[in-house]
Amino acid sequence: MTGQYYRAKLRAAGIPYRERCAVTSITQSAQGFTLETAKGPVHATRVRLAAGGWLQPVAQILGVELPVQARINTVSVTERMPPIMSHVIGHATGLLTMKQKANGTVLVGGGWQGRGTPQTGRGDVTAESLLPNLALAQFAVPALGDARVLRSWTGFEANVPDFYPLAGALPGVPHAFVLGCVRGGYTIGPYISKLMGDFILGREPEMPLFDPGRDFEKALT
Ligand SMILES: Cc1cc2nc3c(=O)[nH]c(=O)nc-3n(C[C@H](O)[C@H](O)[C@H](O)COP(=O)(O)OP(=O)(O)OC[C@H]3O[C@@H](n4cnc5c(N)ncnc54)[C@H](O)[C@@H]3O)c2cc1C
Repeated sequence: MTGQYYRAKLRAAGIPYRERCAVTSITQSAQGFTLETAKGPVHATRVRLAAGGWLQPVAQILGVELPVQARINTVSVTERMPPIMSHVIGHATGLLTMKQKANGTVLVGGGWQGRGTPQTGRGDVTAESLLPNLALAQFAVPALGDARVLRSWTGFEANVPDFYPLAGALPGVPHAFVLGCVRGGYTIGPYISKLMGDFILGREPEMPLFDPGRDFEKALT
């Protein structure tokens, strides 16, 4: 739904965009950047890398090593249920997040790990992760025992060793920026994007950002 919303906004504003179109190379010259894609080149005076779990190979295109790793989170969705929860539910000592959507389906997650890497495409759901995830959900909300699971899937979420975001200038590449590893998902995304927009346009963001060139090992000690 977020994608559809932004697609409509971009269209209405007459801003060109390309979907399902990987950037395969980036070159920088005095005129700016040229990004090669299967649908032809794109020219830009500035670039912002926001490639999620794929940030490491994308930054490598510009010769920068970012210590980005990807977690493979598992999520399941149930069939429609009568109202059984009105808040997001977590568990104090277990890996669990749950929420019921307006259509009655319940989303169950919490960071249980599937199998795979961003480089090899879609990850796989594993029974070793899925079964305890669903058991914990049913333990927390017994009414879920009546629900059938419709679908389970995995997705990639990026992080760096100190688990803080990467939000700022790409080290050593003038006019290139990076935004990723935010880990707060949609909750933080819109606000940190606003801060990044200010930073890229040379305005002082109202909150400090997270320098992608910081010493990650030092931050851990
Ligand atoms: C299973 C799962 C459930 C989640 N549930 C929630 C939730 O309920 N609430 C919440 O707030 N957050 C949730 N999150 C977290 C949230 O989805 C992420 O934090 C958020 O999507 C990260 O946004 P991003 O733009 O940094 O990266 P992504 O959304 O991963 O976007 C990166 C994009 O870069 C593209 N890309 C990669 N390589 C290239 C290339 N070479 N050229 C061009 N494009 C490229 C990818 O195709 C992708 O579209 C969940 C994450 C997962 C995995």
